[in-house]
Amino acid sequence: MIATLAGGVGAARFLEGLVRVTREELSIIVNTGDDIELLGLHISPDVDIVIYTLAGIVDSEKGWGVKGDTFHCLDALKRYGCDVWFMLGDQDLATHLHRTLLLKKGKKLSEITDEERSAFGVEARILPMTDDRVETMVITDEGKMHFQEYMVKRKAQGKVLKVIFKGIERARPTDDVINSIKRAKGIIVCPSNPIVSIGAILSLPDVRESLRATKAKIVGVSPLIAGAPVKGPADKLMGGLGMRVSAYGVAELYQDFLDAFIIDNLDLDLKDRIEALGMRVLVTDTIMKGLKEKMNLARVALEALGV
Ligand code: GDP
Repeated sequence: MIATLAGGVGAARFLEGLVRVTREELSIIVNTGDDIELLGLHISPDVDIVIYTLAGIVDSEKGWGVKGDTFHCLDALKRYGCDVWFMLGDQDLATHLHRTLLLKKGKKLSEITDEERSAFGVEARILPMTDDRVETMVITDEGKMHFQEYMVKRKAQGKVLKVIFKGIERARPTDDVINSIKRAKGIIVCPSNPIVSIGAILSLPDVRESLRATKAKIVGVSPLIAGAPVKGPADKLMGGLGMRVSAYGVAELYQDFLDAFIIDNLDLDLKDRIEALGMRVLVTDTIMKGLKEKMNLARVALEALGV
């Protein structure tokens, strides 16, 4: 079994390649710090992006939502003056309705996610990082807000001063999360936002310790190429928090548990410095334009794991 740590779009793209190049069982540990309650519904954006992508129904242009989905419900809500800044398609709403109803009946997010995965015919195990409520809050010079509000509503405006995982002190990773890390033959840290996606998973008790303790190899893929993210606000978050905005900066964040790190050809000049942090560095094309590139990148990760 291979375990992976995943956020949303960057991770899902990588995983699309990975499922095609390995026969190993996969346990995908997914960030839920981006989860938000909107219109009375529990939205788990990263979990849904990973499931829709692996099910082959994601809107690949956007990287989220269901391909060809309509937005009739949101349009109807606008008539009532509802502030609909988070796009939720009609089919997507069915997922959120179903999840919310089951949560209200007392089911755990992990159980509901497993049902969702199975309804979509996804073979890999999808493990929300926790069944407890953790909310990623961003403090900028414009105030304190939920990460989704910062990223989607305000389009990542304002200088980032701090990131807080609200509820993390009481949250526990699920047993499946810790057991997957302990049992895995190899672990991959997907090319995801190192602060809000991977950072949230790493902030849970026991996760980082389990990664440090495992004898299995751990490889990471840099989400930053030539000092910039392919998509999303990773640069604004890392820069705002005083970190180096580069593949080197990401390697620094993971240096206590990574055995190997995959960086882009454009970052070849960082290879020696990253190796000096105590990890092997593999240099390849990491821009996942199509399936071929996704599969190639996954093969490089598997080679680094020796699986
Ligand atoms: P989000 O929660 O939807 O923002 O998704 P993630 O946290 O999984 O991913 C965001 C990160 O994925 C960003 O930092 C991107 O730079 C990275 N990413 C997206 N596409 C690619 C790609 O083709 N190659 C690499 N190396 N990183 C990518």
